[in-house]
Amino acid sequence: MINQTDLISKYGGNAPRYTSYPTAPHFDDSVNASAYQNWLGEIRAEDVISLYLHVPYCRQLCWYCGCNTRATQVYGPVSQYMEFLLEEITLIERLIAEKPVVGRLHWGGGTPTILTGGDFLRTMEKLRESFDFAGDAEIAVEIDPRTMTESKAELLATAGVTRASLGVQEFAAHVQEAINRRQSFRQVVRSVGMLRAAGVESISFDLMYGLPRQTIADIEETAALTVELRPERVAVFGYAHVPWMKPHQLLIDEDALPGAAERPKQAAAAARVLEKAGYEPIGLDHFALPEDSLSKLAKSGGLRRNFQGYTDDQANILIGFGASSIGLFPQGYAQNYSDLPHYFSAVKSGQLPIMRGIEISDEDRLRREIIERLMCNYSIDLGSACAERGASLGLFKDEHRRLKEFADDGLIAFEGDVVTIPYKFRPYVRSVCAVFDSYLQTGKGRHSRAI
Ligand code: SF4
Repeated sequence: MINQTDLISKYGGNAPRYTSYPTAPHFDDSVNASAYQNWLGEIRAEDVISLYLHVPYCRQLCWYCGCNTRATQVYGPVSQYMEFLLEEITLIERLIAEKPVVGRLHWGGGTPTILTGGDFLRTMEKLRESFDFAGDAEIAVEIDPRTMTESKAELLATAGVTRASLGVQEFAAHVQEAINRRQSFRQVVRSVGMLRAAGVESISFDLMYGLPRQTIADIEETAALTVELRPERVAVFGYAHVPWMKPHQLLIDEDALPGAAERPKQAAAAARVLEKAGYEPIGLDHFALPEDSLSKLAKSGGLRRNFQGYTDDQANILIGFGASSIGLFPQGYAQNYSDLPHYFSAVKSGQLPIMRGIEISDEDRLRREIIERLMCNYSIDLGSACAERGASLGLFKDEHRRLKEFADDGLIAFEGDVVTIPYKFRPYVRSVCAVFDSYLQTGKGRHSRAI
């Protein structure tokens, strides 16, 4: 057994968040528009799929932001972008021979609520013409409470939106100052009230720890204000300081960031407040009320993880639309161009705007299954996972040796072929997953701290 400080320095280093496996830094140009076209052609009418739409615009840039977005004070660029997005939907619709059923649609960004009502409705209509939506399809939208109005809330509900995910992060004014996102508690209260009154059934909040100038007392207060509003779900993400990937994060004062030992304490403080108020912990960083589907799935072992984090979405096909969006197919992942000129130029010439991706092998699928189960359930029976996929346990000889070291340090229990991460060491789950990541050693991609 080693002490807490040594544990953090040995296992708290940088690791992927594992919202996919292989992770995006390992995508390359081996998957192009023509490969993606073949994947689309193999979709069948009986498939239940998910859709993701990316709107890469915001009114103002938050300095902590890790998304593909840009600030705009005028609507022209957004309007032009939406024309291309509609065109991309047409391109994809033509390549799908059999219309599948859509069980989920997620609008992400950026700020989807930057759209005018007309553009939002037009896009929804286009999607409903192009695909068959299930009667109980979940339609989720990421919301910036600073752009929410009563008419927008009504419009979202009329368009069939069932879930609103509000970017809240932190209520303390000195932290908001340090991240360039000023947003009052009152604005959030009003947004929740307008969305609930309009009939949006489910509300999620995104909070953050590890922000500049943030203290344990700040995150506790933010969590306490959050539970007053009773969102069905709350995510508490650790701020990922990756200025080599997101240069605007250089505006954040690095000296004001909480240290490696402080971050897990902040996460634990938020968890304490949420759990005391009746929220159940889901995976690494989500919480939900007991009656929410995430809580039920976490108990039954059916929780999933995708690009949006922990989810109850069971679909194995996700079509992404818009710049930088990533599609998931049984064959692999495909990502659109992130930069707008390339995205626009491909769509304009009638080409699928695919920038890169990766085809996945049977071994990748097995490793993905192990990583997803660890991220969701904190436990995996390696013997059963291998047997189910007809693989030999011998494949994990090196991993076995490294896991023994984790176990000797007291970080995991490793009995027989079963790996279990005890409750108090759950924040280290990304480091345990990294043991199974055969792409990590290639050195492509730098990641945020694991805890
Ligand atoms: S509103 Fe959201 S997407 Fe836009 S800059 Fe802020 S964090 Fe990023």
